[in-house]
Amino acid sequence: MVKADAYGLGALPVARALESLDPMAYGVATLAEGAELRAAGIRRPIILFSPARVADLPSIRAASITPTLASVDGVEAWMAGGGGDWQLSIDTGMHRAGVRWDALDPLLPTLARHAPSGAFTHFHSSELDDGSLEVQEERFRAAVARLPVRPRLLHTQNSAAIVRSTPSAWDCVRPGIFLYGVGSGVRAALRPEPVVALHARILEVRDVHAGESVSYDATWRAARPSRVATVACGYADGLRRHLGNRAHALVRGARAPIAGVVTMDMAMLDVTDAGAGVGDVVTFLGAERTVEEVAAEGGLSPYELLTGLRQRLPRAYRGA
Ligand SMILES: *Cc1c(COP(=O)(O)O)cnc(C)c1O
Repeated sequence: MVKADAYGLGALPVARALESLDPMAYGVATLAEGAELRAAGIRRPIILFSPARVADLPSIRAASITPTLASVDGVEAWMAGGGGDWQLSIDTGMHRAGVRWDALDPLLPTLARHAPSGAFTHFHSSELDDGSLEVQEERFRAAVARLPVRPRLLHTQNSAAIVRSTPSAWDCVRPGIFLYGVGSGVRAALRPEPVVALHARILEVRDVHAGESVSYDATWRAARPSRVATVACGYADGLRRHLGNRAHALVRGARAPIAGVVTMDMAMLDVTDAGAGVGDVVTFLGAERTVEEVAAEGGLSPYELLTGLRQRLPRAYRGA
């Protein structure tokens, strides 16, 4: 899954890095995302996982993208335009997209004439131990059993489901956030390597007297005479405002809490115990500061933290 610009990391460099692993296909969420990969020369199948609008089908075809369909109208329009690979989306409980597993009947005559090359469902609570994954899996199995022809590619699992039950009972899986270094906790059987780092440089360091405040709205106050470093990274770079007064960075191997509200272009760090100086590089994300940890400190979802990384950040791709 390289949708949302590969979760904020850059769809094209990520796709190029994944090429050598021979993925079955790339998953995107919009036609524009798929067209970008095609225009850049990516040749593998690209599956558009959001429901395809009938009006977009000609453009989807022109870009050689595989649409996801779930209605008689959609399938008929795809076939009228020349046919080709398409995927059937089956709603087994997420209630976001696809044909309901228990309401396939109206679609069956169409499916008998125009069989999909794949069918899939999406879990609503793959990170929870609530038994819903098994329920949805069973609904999917029942729905697939009713299809006139078994599609070549059946798939259900996103990252958390893959980590939970490997190998899949089906033909392929759809890892997203796992590829970007976010796992499902320390006790998980499969753990990803960290792949993303976010660094910023200290621009200034100042002394703040006990009782003085830092940043907008004066939400942080020095409990003791403090050293405060200003770094060139703000919420317009994707360092979310919510991390202020909650998360910390690392500098010279020590913890440096984010002092006060993160501003648009800069953030301040309490480096009283870190002994940092101007020019030092601070780590917000990296091997020792995982996306999961930082998201948890800030009360954010790791998905939002990653996909929130903004274009203004200068990017460097290593080994890709
Ligand atoms: C985003 C998405 C995935 C990947 O989910 P992760 O939790 O990031 O692994 C898989 N399947 C579908 C249909 C998706 O929309």
